[in-house]
Amino acid sequence: MPKSAAQKRVPTPKLGQHFLVDDAAGVRIVEALGDVKGATVLEIGPGRGAITEILAQKAQRLIAVELDRVLSAQLRLKFGLYQNVEIIEGDILKIELDTVFGPKPGTLRPGLTFAPEKARVVGNLPYYITSDILLRLFEYHRYFSTIVIMVQKEVADRLAAKAGSSDYGLLSATAQLYGRVEKLFTLPPAAFAPPPKVHSSVVRITIKPQLEALGVAEAEFIAFLKLSFGQKRKTLWNNLKTQYDEGVLRAALAKSGVKPAIRAEALGLEKSAAVFRALRDGP
Ligand code: SAM
Repeated sequence: MPKSAAQKRVPTPKLGQHFLVDDAAGVRIVEALGDVKGATVLEIGPGRGAITEILAQKAQRLIAVELDRVLSAQLRLKFGLYQNVEIIEGDILKIELDTVFGPKPGTLRPGLTFAPEKARVVGNLPYYITSDILLRLFEYHRYFSTIVIMVQKEVADRLAAKAGSSDYGLLSATAQLYGRVEKLFTLPPAAFAPPPKVHSSVVRITIKPQLEALGVAEAEFIAFLKLSFGQKRKTLWNNLKTQYDEGVLRAALAKSGVKPAIRAEALGLEKSAAVFRALRDGP
Protein backbone atom coordinates (compact mmCIF):
# COMPACT_ATOMS: atom_id res chain seq x y z
CA MET A 1 0.00 0.00 0.00
CA PRO A 2 1.45 3.50 -0.82
CA LYS A 3 2.53 5.48 2.22
CA SER A 4 0.46 8.53 3.19
CA ALA A 5 2.14 11.92 3.64
CA ALA A 6 1.93 11.46 7.44
CA GLN A 7 3.72 8.11 7.28
CA LYS A 8 6.47 9.49 5.07
CA ARG A 9 7.27 12.43 7.31
CA VAL A 10 10.43 12.01 9.37
CA PRO A 11 9.49 11.74 13.08
CA THR A 12 10.69 14.46 15.42
CA PRO A 13 12.71 12.73 18.19
CA LYS A 14 12.48 15.69 20.52
CA LEU A 15 8.68 15.32 20.61
CA GLY A 16 9.02 11.66 21.60
CA GLN A 17 7.62 10.49 18.29
CA HIS A 18 7.62 6.69 18.26
CA PHE A 19 4.52 5.63 16.39
CA LEU A 20 2.66 2.46 17.25
CA VAL A 21 2.78 -0.03 14.36
CA ASP A 22 1.42 -3.06 16.23
CA ASP A 23 -2.29 -3.00 15.31
CA ALA A 24 -3.27 -5.62 17.87
CA ALA A 25 -1.70 -3.51 20.64
CA GLY A 26 -3.79 -0.50 19.52
CA VAL A 27 -6.93 -2.61 19.87
CA ARG A 28 -5.87 -3.80 23.35
CA ILE A 29 -5.17 -0.23 24.48
CA VAL A 30 -8.64 0.90 23.41
CA GLU A 31 -10.23 -2.18 25.01
CA ALA A 32 -8.53 -1.27 28.28
CA LEU A 33 -10.68 1.89 28.37
CA GLY A 34 -13.82 -0.26 28.68
CA ASP A 35 -16.99 0.43 26.71
CA VAL A 36 -16.58 3.92 25.24
CA LYS A 37 -19.83 3.95 23.23
CA GLY A 38 -21.34 6.71 25.36
CA ALA A 39 -18.05 8.22 26.57
CA THR A 40 -15.86 11.23 25.93
CA VAL A 41 -12.22 10.26 25.41
CA LEU A 42 -9.21 12.57 25.57
CA GLU A 43 -6.28 11.28 23.50
CA ILE A 44 -2.85 12.69 24.28
CA GLY A 45 -0.44 12.84 21.33
CA PRO A 46 -2.42 11.05 18.59
CA GLY A 47 0.57 11.24 16.21
CA ARG A 48 -0.27 9.40 12.99
CA GLY A 49 -3.58 8.26 14.47
CA ALA A 50 -2.97 4.57 15.24
CA ILE A 51 -5.18 4.71 18.36
CA THR A 52 -7.33 7.58 17.07
CA GLU A 53 -8.57 5.48 14.14
CA ILE A 54 -9.94 2.78 16.42
CA LEU A 55 -11.47 5.26 18.86
CA ALA A 56 -13.10 7.37 16.15
CA GLN A 57 -15.28 4.36 15.32
CA LYS A 58 -16.23 3.67 18.92
CA ALA A 59 -16.27 6.72 21.19
CA GLN A 60 -19.19 9.09 21.46
CA ARG A 61 -16.75 12.00 21.49
CA LEU A 62 -12.99 12.02 20.95
CA ILE A 63 -10.81 15.02 21.73
CA ALA A 64 -7.23 14.50 20.51
CA VAL A 65 -4.46 16.92 21.47
CA GLU A 66 -1.35 16.91 19.27
CA LEU A 67 1.52 19.37 19.57
CA ASP A 68 3.06 18.75 16.16
CA ARG A 69 1.58 21.22 13.69
CA VAL A 70 1.98 19.05 10.59
CA LEU A 71 0.60 15.93 12.27
CA SER A 72 -2.41 17.80 13.67
CA ALA A 73 -3.18 19.26 10.21
CA GLN A 74 -2.97 15.76 8.74
CA LEU A 75 -5.20 14.37 11.48
CA ARG A 76 -7.75 17.11 10.84
CA LEU A 77 -7.89 16.13 7.18
CA LYS A 78 -8.11 12.46 7.99
CA PHE A 79 -10.89 12.81 10.56
CA GLY A 80 -12.64 15.81 9.02
CA LEU A 81 -15.77 13.81 8.27
CA TYR A 82 -16.10 12.42 11.77
CA GLN A 83 -18.59 14.52 13.72
CA ASN A 84 -17.42 12.94 16.98
CA VAL A 85 -13.69 13.74 16.56
CA GLU A 86 -12.07 17.03 17.49
CA ILE A 87 -8.37 17.56 16.84
CA ILE A 88 -6.76 20.26 18.98
CA GLU A 89 -3.31 21.47 17.97
CA GLY A 90 -1.74 22.22 21.32
CA ASP A 91 0.46 21.24 24.23
CA ILE A 92 -1.24 18.86 26.68
CA LEU A 93 0.71 20.57 29.48
CA LYS A 94 -0.75 23.95 28.60
CA ILE A 95 -4.25 23.59 27.17
CA GLU A 96 -7.01 24.82 29.45
CA LEU A 97 -8.58 21.61 30.69
CA ASP A 98 -11.21 23.64 32.56
CA THR A 99 -12.32 25.12 29.25
CA VAL A 100 -12.44 21.73 27.54
CA PHE A 101 -14.10 19.76 30.34
CA GLY A 102 -15.49 22.32 32.80
CA PRO A 103 -18.93 23.94 32.86
CA LYS A 104 -19.69 26.19 29.90
CA PRO A 105 -20.69 29.78 30.67
CA GLY A 106 -24.44 30.07 31.14
CA THR A 107 -25.00 26.30 31.51
CA LEU A 108 -24.96 26.20 35.30
CA ARG A 109 -28.04 27.38 37.17
CA PRO A 110 -27.65 28.65 40.76
CA GLY A 111 -27.81 25.85 43.30
CA LEU A 112 -26.85 23.15 40.80
CA THR A 113 -23.47 21.45 40.99
CA PHE A 114 -21.50 20.59 37.89
CA ALA A 115 -21.37 16.79 37.55
CA PRO A 116 -20.75 15.79 33.93
CA GLU A 117 -19.97 12.26 32.78
CA LYS A 118 -16.24 11.92 33.38
CA ALA A 119 -13.93 11.56 30.41
CA ARG A 120 -11.46 8.73 29.82
CA VAL A 121 -7.89 9.47 28.89
CA VAL A 122 -5.69 7.49 26.54
CA GLY A 123 -2.24 8.06 25.09
CA ASN A 124 0.98 6.55 23.93
CA LEU A 125 2.79 9.29 25.79
CA PRO A 126 5.83 11.26 24.67
CA TYR A 127 8.25 9.81 27.24
CA TYR A 128 10.21 13.03 27.81
CA ILE A 129 7.24 14.52 29.69
CA THR A 130 5.47 11.46 31.14
CA SER A 131 5.65 12.61 34.77
CA ASP A 132 4.55 16.16 33.94
CA ILE A 133 1.55 14.83 32.00
CA LEU A 134 0.59 12.49 34.83
CA LEU A 135 0.86 15.23 37.42
CA ARG A 136 -1.36 17.45 35.28
CA LEU A 137 -3.95 14.70 34.86
CA PHE A 138 -3.95 14.13 38.61
CA GLU A 139 -4.37 17.86 39.21
CA TYR A 140 -7.52 17.77 37.02
CA HIS A 141 -8.63 14.30 38.17
CA ARG A 142 -12.17 15.61 38.78
CA TYR A 143 -12.75 15.44 35.00
CA PHE A 144 -11.49 11.88 34.48
CA SER A 145 -12.57 8.34 35.36
CA THR A 146 -9.96 6.12 33.69
CA ILE A 147 -6.49 6.77 32.31
CA VAL A 148 -4.85 4.24 29.97
CA ILE A 149 -1.33 5.20 28.99
CA MET A 150 1.72 3.72 27.34
CA VAL A 151 4.84 4.62 29.27
CA GLN A 152 8.43 3.44 29.51
CA LYS A 153 8.40 0.02 31.24
CA GLU A 154 10.47 1.29 34.19
CA VAL A 155 7.94 4.09 34.76
CA ALA A 156 5.09 1.55 34.69
CA ASP A 157 6.93 -0.50 37.30
CA ARG A 158 7.28 2.58 39.49
CA LEU A 159 3.65 3.61 39.06
CA ALA A 160 2.37 0.18 40.10
CA ALA A 161 5.01 -0.57 42.79
CA LYS A 162 3.92 -1.51 46.30
CA ALA A 163 5.38 0.27 49.32
CA GLY A 164 8.53 -1.45 50.51
CA SER A 165 9.66 -2.52 47.04
CA SER A 166 12.71 -0.91 45.44
CA ASP A 167 10.56 0.73 42.71
CA TYR A 168 8.26 2.50 45.19
CA GLY A 169 8.77 6.26 45.31
CA LEU A 170 7.08 9.64 44.99
CA LEU A 171 5.54 8.78 41.59
CA SER A 172 4.02 5.55 42.97
CA ALA A 173 2.65 7.25 46.08
CA THR A 174 1.17 10.13 44.06
CA ALA A 175 -0.46 7.87 41.44
CA GLN A 176 -1.85 5.56 44.11
CA LEU A 177 -3.22 8.56 46.00
CA TYR A 178 -5.44 9.26 42.99
CA GLY A 179 -6.42 5.80 41.87
CA ARG A 180 -5.93 2.10 41.42
CA VAL A 181 -2.92 1.39 39.21
CA GLU A 182 -2.68 -1.74 37.06
CA LYS A 183 0.17 -2.67 34.76
CA LEU A 184 -1.54 -4.35 31.79
CA PHE A 185 1.03 -5.48 29.21
CA THR A 186 4.50 -4.74 27.83
CA LEU A 187 5.59 -4.16 24.22
CA PRO A 188 9.06 -4.48 22.68
CA PRO A 189 10.72 -1.60 20.80
CA ALA A 190 9.71 -3.26 17.49
CA ALA A 191 6.06 -2.36 18.15
CA PHE A 192 6.95 1.26 17.27
CA ALA A 193 8.47 3.14 14.36
CA PRO A 194 11.11 4.34 14.86
CA PRO A 195 11.77 1.86 17.70
CA PRO A 196 12.57 3.49 21.06
CA LYS A 197 15.56 2.27 23.07
CA VAL A 198 13.33 0.91 25.84
CA HIS A 199 10.43 -1.49 26.37
CA SER A 200 7.04 0.12 26.89
CA SER A 201 4.14 -0.87 29.13
CA VAL A 202 0.48 0.00 29.19
CA VAL A 203 -0.87 1.10 32.55
CA ARG A 204 -4.45 1.71 33.60
CA ILE A 205 -5.26 4.10 36.42
CA THR A 206 -8.84 3.95 37.64
CA ILE A 207 -9.42 7.28 39.32
CA LYS A 208 -10.50 6.92 42.96
CA PRO A 209 -8.92 9.64 45.08
CA GLN A 210 -7.92 8.51 48.57
CA LEU A 211 -7.68 12.03 50.03
CA GLU A 212 -10.92 11.94 51.99
CA ALA A 213 -10.39 8.39 53.27
CA LEU A 214 -6.90 9.36 54.44
CA GLY A 215 -8.16 12.58 56.03
CA VAL A 216 -5.68 14.79 54.20
CA ALA A 217 -5.92 17.99 52.15
CA GLU A 218 -4.57 17.60 48.63
CA ALA A 219 -1.95 20.34 48.25
CA GLU A 220 -0.57 19.99 51.77
CA PHE A 221 -0.30 16.20 51.60
CA ILE A 222 1.41 16.26 48.17
CA ALA A 223 3.91 18.78 49.56
CA PHE A 224 4.46 16.45 52.55
CA LEU A 225 5.05 13.45 50.26
CA LYS A 226 7.59 15.47 48.26
CA LEU A 227 9.40 16.34 51.46
CA SER A 228 9.27 12.74 52.78
CA PHE A 229 10.76 11.35 49.56
CA GLY A 230 13.04 14.41 49.23
CA GLN A 231 16.42 12.72 49.19
CA LYS A 232 16.18 9.08 48.22
CA ARG A 233 19.00 7.77 50.43
CA LYS A 234 17.96 9.72 53.52
CA THR A 235 15.70 8.37 56.27
CA LEU A 236 12.21 9.77 56.75
CA TRP A 237 13.53 11.51 59.87
CA ASN A 238 16.34 13.26 58.01
CA ASN A 239 14.05 14.38 55.18
CA LEU A 240 11.34 15.68 57.52
CA LYS A 241 13.64 17.38 60.02
CA THR A 242 14.57 19.93 57.35
CA GLN A 243 11.15 21.48 58.01
CA TYR A 244 9.92 20.25 61.37
CA ASP A 245 11.14 20.82 64.91
CA GLU A 246 12.81 17.63 66.20
CA GLY A 247 10.61 17.37 69.30
CA VAL A 248 7.41 17.79 67.30
CA LEU A 249 8.65 15.27 64.76
CA ARG A 250 9.60 12.68 67.41
CA ALA A 251 6.14 12.95 69.00
CA ALA A 252 4.34 12.68 65.64
CA LEU A 253 6.30 9.60 64.59
CA ALA A 254 5.65 7.97 67.96
CA LYS A 255 1.92 8.80 67.73
CA SER A 256 1.68 7.19 64.30
CA GLY A 257 3.81 4.18 65.23
CA VAL A 258 6.55 4.91 62.69
CA LYS A 259 10.24 4.38 63.44
CA PRO A 260 12.41 7.44 62.67
CA ALA A 261 15.03 5.31 60.86
CA ILE A 262 12.56 4.15 58.23
CA ARG A 263 12.75 5.47 54.64
CA ALA A 264 9.68 6.95 52.95
CA GLU A 265 9.84 4.12 50.36
CA ALA A 266 8.86 1.64 53.09
CA LEU A 267 5.79 3.60 54.20
CA GLY A 268 2.46 2.95 52.54
CA LEU A 269 0.06 5.84 51.95
CA GLU A 270 -1.86 5.09 55.14
CA LYS A 271 1.22 5.39 57.35
CA SER A 272 2.42 8.49 55.49
CA ALA A 273 -0.99 10.05 56.06
CA ALA A 274 -0.87 9.09 59.75
CA VAL A 275 2.46 10.93 60.17
CA PHE A 276 1.10 13.90 58.21
CA ARG A 277 -2.02 14.09 60.40
CA ALA A 278 0.00 13.75 63.61
CA LEU A 279 2.24 16.64 62.53
CA ARG A 280 -0.78 18.71 61.53
CA ASP A 281 -2.92 17.97 64.59
CA GLY A 282 -0.20 17.74 67.25
CA PRO A 283 0.15 15.13 70.02
N1 SAM B 1 -0.37 8.02 19.61
C1 SAM B 1 0.56 7.86 18.50
C2 SAM B 1 0.90 6.39 18.33
O1 SAM B 1 0.66 5.64 19.28
O2 SAM B 1 1.41 6.02 17.28
C3 SAM B 1 1.82 8.70 18.71
C4 SAM B 1 2.60 8.43 19.96
S1 SAM B 1 4.15 9.27 20.08
C5 SAM B 1 4.92 8.25 21.31
C6 SAM B 1 3.80 10.72 21.07
C7 SAM B 1 3.00 11.81 20.34
O3 SAM B 1 2.82 12.91 21.24
C8 SAM B 1 3.69 12.39 19.11
O4 SAM B 1 2.78 12.45 18.06
C9 SAM B 1 4.12 13.80 19.55
O5 SAM B 1 4.16 14.72 18.49
C10 SAM B 1 3.04 14.13 20.56
N2 SAM B 1 3.44 15.12 21.58
C11 SAM B 1 4.69 15.38 22.07
N3 SAM B 1 4.65 16.32 23.02
C12 SAM B 1 3.34 16.68 23.15
C13 SAM B 1 2.64 17.63 23.97
N4 SAM B 1 3.30 18.39 24.86
N5 SAM B 1 1.30 17.74 23.83
C14 SAM B 1 0.63 16.97 22.92
N6 SAM B 1 1.23 16.06 22.12
C15 SAM B 1 2.56 15.91 22.23
